[in-house]
Amino acid sequence: MVSRVIPVEVFDLVIFGGTGDLARRKILPGLYRRYLAGQIPENARVIGAARTDLDDAGYRQFVNDAICEFVKSSKHDKAHIDAFVSHIHYLPVDALGDAGWNELAAMMRPDVIRAFYFSVAPRLFGPLAERLHDHEIADGDSRIVVEKPFGRDLKTAKALNGVLAESFDEKQIYRIDHYLGKETVQNLMAVRFGNILFEPLWNSQYVDHIQITVAESVGVGGRGSYYDKSGAIRDMIQNHLMQLLCLIGMEPPSEFEPDAVRDEKLKVIRALDAPDPKDIVRGQYRAGDDTASYLTDAENPESKTESFIAMKLGISNWRWKGTPIYLRTGKRLRERTSEIAVVFKDPPHSIFGEQEGRRGNVLVIRLQPNEGMNLRVTIKEPGPGGMRLIEVPLDMSFAEALADGDDIPDAYERLIMDVMRGNQTLFMRGDEVEAAWAWTDPIIEAWESAGKKPVEYDPGGSGPDDSLMLLHRDGRRWREIKA
Ligand code: NAP
Repeated sequence: MVSRVIPVEVFDLVIFGGTGDLARRKILPGLYRRYLAGQIPENARVIGAARTDLDDAGYRQFVNDAICEFVKSSKHDKAHIDAFVSHIHYLPVDALGDAGWNELAAMMRPDVIRAFYFSVAPRLFGPLAERLHDHEIADGDSRIVVEKPFGRDLKTAKALNGVLAESFDEKQIYRIDHYLGKETVQNLMAVRFGNILFEPLWNSQYVDHIQITVAESVGVGGRGSYYDKSGAIRDMIQNHLMQLLCLIGMEPPSEFEPDAVRDEKLKVIRALDAPDPKDIVRGQYRAGDDTASYLTDAENPESKTESFIAMKLGISNWRWKGTPIYLRTGKRLRERTSEIAVVFKDPPHSIFGEQEGRRGNVLVIRLQPNEGMNLRVTIKEPGPGGMRLIEVPLDMSFAEALADGDDIPDAYERLIMDVMRGNQTLFMRGDEVEAAWAWTDPIIEAWESAGKKPVEYDPGGSGPDDSLMLLHRDGRRWREIKA
């Protein structure tokens, strides 16, 4: 089969924070996998930059170790790793000082794409942008990749957008939300806009409700004090779940182009109703038999931060008015799983008799584990004995559907390649991030002024009982949290 992958031009990619956790676990292994896929041009360079004093050889060893730890062993071919690390360089650079900047400026090559990945703490995003500009390291075609979190409220997000805008045009800024890089998330758009089948049904007339669940089985231990300053709403709802909601809810863009897609997503955020406080459930996990409580993990016995949130939302536009959207995310739940379920209404009348029931179709888009989709349909139970109906999933697991199935590109590697191709479709625009904060801020302010503690929930379950009630009282139920 002829490859239809768009080739990438020669680039210099500088990873600020090149010695950090994200670089080690995701960015560098991802680049190696793209190298194996033949997508790293021959003269491309990846330059790690951080304060740690390393030379090229030392950093190449670091990259080698990261590959051995985070890329599956069948891909640990020494010749390939050696060839890949020959693209790798390192420069000690201090984002807050003068060290390294002249050297970095001298290292840049003309006529190649320059990209700068800000894989550092958010307080360094602004200083990095300023220094890149002041030292004339970035040119008009350079790109910066900005990690999350992008601000902690509307004010700080606006301030950061302002600082970045002093040195870079919006078309140069790639605000990353790695959920958008997932295969399934893009497939959601392919399914919606590449088929005639779903679009006529994709509205409040046919969709009963939508559930978005992002459940994690781990607690916040290790990063508890950091997490305690954000909580589930800032850490997950404002960005990841909001982005998923946008892709589910948006109108068909006129073309699959960055601004056409992002304009439509923005309209969804702007049409989101402010949730009624009684439609929000906040929780904190208790201690388990061998797991600590949230309060212990957060090292804050008085904490009022939520490790779980469930909420019911409405979108005030013609397409969605009347279809509730239920969001749920939390730590220390039964399984690590993320999915979107579009639950269609029951057929209006059962010709098979009421005892066979009327069953709605459910389209489930699974983000993890086992990225894929399935559509629950009703069929006749095989065999004689009359018309007995059963529900079966039409299942499409991407791992099985793709030739080298267990090799679906990780979200980060796909997004990095999009940066090199100059494609911003899967990155958040500044106004989108601000609109998301503008919606989130009043919710947080109301909690802070009420000063209420979240309710407790048992570890290993599906969150507080109140979250189950959120759907029960509407005659609905959450899908089971299972991997
Ligand atoms: P990390 O492990 O703490 O790494 C931070 C990096 O920044 C290190 O390489 C550190 O190296 C460098 N650094 C610190 N101060 C610096 C300075 N003044 N100048 C230059 N470099 C400096 O953090 P991380 O987990 O990789 O996270 C990086 C970013 O990604 C954060 O914004 C985080 O929110 C985001 N993120 C991370 C993950 C994840 O899974 N880790 C997931 C999503 C988002 P030196 O100490 O050598 O300078």
